[in-house]
Amino acid sequence: MKNISVIGAGTMGNGIAHVFAQNGYQVNLIDVSQEALEKAVKTISRNLDRMVAKEKITELQKKITLNNLTTISEIKSGVENAELVIEAATENLDIKLSIFKEIDLHSPKECILSTNTSSISITKIAANTSRADKVIGMHFMNPVPIMKLIEIIKGYSTSTQTLETIMKLSKKIGKSPVEVNDFPGFVANKILIPMINEAIITLHEGVAGVEEIDTVMKLGMAHPMGPLQLADFIGLDVCLAILKVLQQGFGTDKYAPCPLLVNMVTAGKLGVKSGEGFYSWKHKTKELLVSEYFK
Ligand code: NAD
Repeated sequence: MKNISVIGAGTMGNGIAHVFAQNGYQVNLIDVSQEALEKAVKTISRNLDRMVAKEKITELQKKITLNNLTTISEIKSGVENAELVIEAATENLDIKLSIFKEIDLHSPKECILSTNTSSISITKIAANTSRADKVIGMHFMNPVPIMKLIEIIKGYSTSTQTLETIMKLSKKIGKSPVEVNDFPGFVANKILIPMINEAIITLHEGVAGVEEIDTVMKLGMAHPMGPLQLADFIGLDVCLAILKVLQQGFGTDKYAPCPLLVNMVTAGKLGVKSGEGFYSWKHKTKELLVSEYFK
C-alpha cells in the first residue's frame, strides 16, 4: 500500500494524514473547506517543528513528510488512485453516507474504505456501499501523532482479509491496533462516556464538587485527567451525542444523559471549544479554574 486518502482535515484528519505522510505514504488530504485544509497543513507543519526541536525527526524528514502530503478539495480526484481511504469528516450519519457513496463510486474496486467514526455503526455505513467486505472502522485517538491506540472495528460483513490488512498496516505506522466488534460506542466510548456521565450525575446530585470529583479520579484511580476535565476536552456536545447513540443502540436508560449535561449543551457550554464547561478555558492559565456556575 502506498496511496492513502484522508477525508476531512479537522482535528483528527490532520493527525491521521500527518502519521501516514511521516511513515512514507503518499497522502491526499481532502476537505470541502479550503480554510480547513490550510489550517491542517499549518498544524502538521507546527507539530513537525516540535518533533524536530525535540530531535525526534530531522529537518529533512520534516521536508519529506510535507512533500508526501497533497491537499485536495474534491473527493472524486482525491480517491481515484487510493488503496485505502480513511474518512474523518464531521460526525453526522447523512454526511458520512453521502461521502461513502462518492468514495465507492470513484475509488478503485479493490480499495479499502475505512471510517474514524466515534459512534456510527460500521455495518450501516458498509451496507450503503457496493463492497461491504472492504469497509472497516479505524478509530484513532486524539492527538493522533501521540496516541498509540487504534480501535479496529469489524463490521458484520468485513472480511478477514480486510481486517488482517488493516491490523498489519496499523502496526507498520507504529500504532497498537485492537480488534473489536461493531456495537454502539465500540469499546472505548462504551466504557469512557458512561463514566463521564456518572461523574456529571455525581456533581448534579451534590455528592461532591468539580475539583473534588476530578481529584478523586486522578489520585485514587491514577487517571491522568479527571472525567469532568476530560469531558471539557472531548466537547460536551460530543459526549451527549455518544450517550444518545448508546441509549438508542442498546435500548436501555442505563445510558440516559444526565439532565445537567443536557442543560449545559443547550446553554452552549461545550467545554474547551466554547471557552467554558465544568472549567473556564477563557484564560490561558496553567492552573485549572472551575467555572463560576459550579463555585
Ligand atoms: P472536525 O469538526 O474537527 O473536522 C471535520 C472536518 O470534516 C471539517 O474540516 C469539515 O470541513 C470536514 N467535512 C465535512 N463534510 C465534509 C465532506 N462532505 N467532505 C469532506 N470534508 C468534509 O471533526 P473531528 O473532531 O476531526 O472528527 C472527525 C471524525 O473523527 C468524527 O467522525 C469524530 O467522531 C471522529 N473522532 C473524533 C475524535 C476527537 O477527539 N475529536 C476522536 C476520535 C474520533
